[in-house]
Amino acid sequence: MRKIRLLGDPVLRKKAKEVSQIDEYVLNLVKEMFEVMYANDGIGLAAPQLGVSLRIIVMDDGKPRVMINPQIVYKSEEKIVGEEGCLSVPEIFENVERSKEVIVKYRDENNVEREEKFVDYSARIVQHEYDHLDGILFVDLIPAERRAAIREKLLDIVKRSVHQR
Ligand SMILES: [Zn+2]
Repeated sequence: MRKIRLLGDPVLRKKAKEVSQIDEYVLNLVKEMFEVMYANDGIGLAAPQLGVSLRIIVMDDGKPRVMINPQIVYKSEEKIVGEEGCLSVPEIFENVERSKEVIVKYRDENNVEREEKFVDYSARIVQHEYDHLDGILFVDLIPAERRAAIREKLLDIVKRSVHQR
């Protein structure tokens, strides 16, 4: 199984590329993403977290979904604050402000174009995973004083990421 890339790994900071074709490689990658996500009790995973800089998200908010080349076409003005964690930033949980509702356009694993509305917790997962495709991590979005408070822990993760590479 591929390893989960940790904070400090450059692949997590790259803007991921669009998937041009949903082929065998992409489908195998999606399968592996689900395996890694479930093995680590995750609820979402983006391809860059496995070291692959492609615009693919998997998530399971009670219903497993694959989103290929997702686009957030609507974000509500209304925001809500909730706790987030990330398999690439282990053992850190911080409050993040997100839009309460989003509408996402994406292709599923069968190459069917879909448009779906997500609310609350599900909208939070989508926004978190989508950010990964643009090289953004949830710890980038927390207040500076919180980031300062967890600085040492973040540096420890960066050190681990260096050993892992
Ligand atoms: Zn994450």
